[in-house]
Amino acid sequence: MKKKNTHRNTAKSFWKIGKKEFNTHIFDVNGEGELVIREGNYQYNVHELARKFGSSLEVFLPFVLEERLNGLFTTFAEEMKQAEYRGKFFYHYPMKVNQNKEAVLTLVSEGAHLEVGSVNELALVKKLWETSSVNNKIRVLCNGPKTKAYVDLIFRMWEDHLWVVPIIEDREELNLFKEYRGDLGIRVNLQTKVKSHWDKKVDRFGLSAEELFDLGRVRNLKLLHYHIGSQVERGADIIAVLKESFRVYKKLRETQPSLDTIDIGGGFAVPYEKRTMYSMEMIAKRVVGTLKALAEEAAIPHPHLIVEWGRYVVAPAQITIFKVVSEKAIPKGAARSWYIIDGSFMNDLLDTWALHQKWHIVPINNMEAKKKQRVWLAGLSCDSDDKYTARDGYVLLPRLEDLEPGQDQYVAFFDTGAYQDAFASHHCLLSSPLKIILQNGVVTIARKRETAEDIGKLFGW
Ligand SMILES: *Cc1c(COP(=O)(O)O)cnc(C)c1O
Repeated sequence: MKKKNTHRNTAKSFWKIGKKEFNTHIFDVNGEGELVIREGNYQYNVHELARKFGSSLEVFLPFVLEERLNGLFTTFAEEMKQAEYRGKFFYHYPMKVNQNKEAVLTLVSEGAHLEVGSVNELALVKKLWETSSVNNKIRVLCNGPKTKAYVDLIFRMWEDHLWVVPIIEDREELNLFKEYRGDLGIRVNLQTKVKSHWDKKVDRFGLSAEELFDLGRVRNLKLLHYHIGSQVERGADIIAVLKESFRVYKKLRETQPSLDTIDIGGGFAVPYEKRTMYSMEMIAKRVVGTLKALAEEAAIPHPHLIVEWGRYVVAPAQITIFKVVSEKAIPKGAARSWYIIDGSFMNDLLDTWALHQKWHIVPINNMEAKKKQRVWLAGLSCDSDDKYTARDGYVLLPRLEDLEPGQDQYVAFFDTGAYQDAFASHHCLLSSPLKIILQNGVVTIARKRETAEDIGKLFGW
């Protein structure tokens, strides 16, 4: 027994399982060397799920969403209370990060407001509203270029008493909303540069500070918004940008006295590679402290605060599982073998291809295997780009020759809840993963595996 526990603990620490700072605290390794997920005192055996439902398989975990969102609410509430901060905190969930119904509804039911980026996302909110699934206290921020259909829908929803707030992206949009009687927000294009893939030299979103100061009085302008990019690498950058935005906010209030809210957008990073990074608690403390100090120095009321961290909340709420279907030697490379998986990076985890994103990959069976080998992973499509080489590194996984006869090796990719689904595609007409939801000890199928016929239909067959 003792020996078994030592093996388990070694496996846990090797695969970086059971660590809160890496969002892997809900995972554990059982006595059989299998990955398990804990939801309170419920437990799910991931290896069994993969064998039962087949792979490729997405496992969605709504209770993780609840935990993350509630963590944000309590932390900010506590910081604001301690600092005697008089503005309010709001979380707006950016729908584009994961528009699946099970994600959006879970967050809304925990008190999230929404942020949409297109007319079609807003149409989904309208649908929720019409079926009385949301109450009329929910607030919806509308970003993105305002096409005619988008503008019309915003007006219609406002007339139906939903609190929709268009975020103005340029001067022309301001004219489109001249007759709008609801609250307005405006997006500023800040100068501070941050360390992130998305921090472009030239940003096409929003108005410059100078343009904002020249606008003249805008009726019901309540909110100043910015979004500086995603997966921001340094916590200090989040604070530096906040400080710049406050300078704009303060000056803008001279011409726009209705302004009372700063919306700091998204950008909080996820520890995909399971390396230490800044913590939410530390950033929350600094955001509240910074805003309080700056507002008091400027002798203006503490602004209300909106946070739209999307990836932070959603990424850890899903893992994606593949089976290794074959192995092929690599004559020359950082790895010894290709493991071919029964899914596709280009279709199912597009950021692998688009951003060379790194993922945390663990076996879900044979986790205690002592001998591991350096591998690269390749997808089922015929495309030479359909691969994962850990940015020219390698992945350590158990050796297939050590498997018991008849056993398959499965692997899990962690933190796949953000962005991957909406980018999913059908290169080589491969099927998307089947999706299951684990909640309250019950496993339900959210999306069935597509048949050849289903996919053919998408292409007019
Ligand atoms: C994409 C986006 C977000 C979410 O960004 P994350 O990096 O996932 O936190 C938030 N707000 C706006 C306006 C966005 O476009």
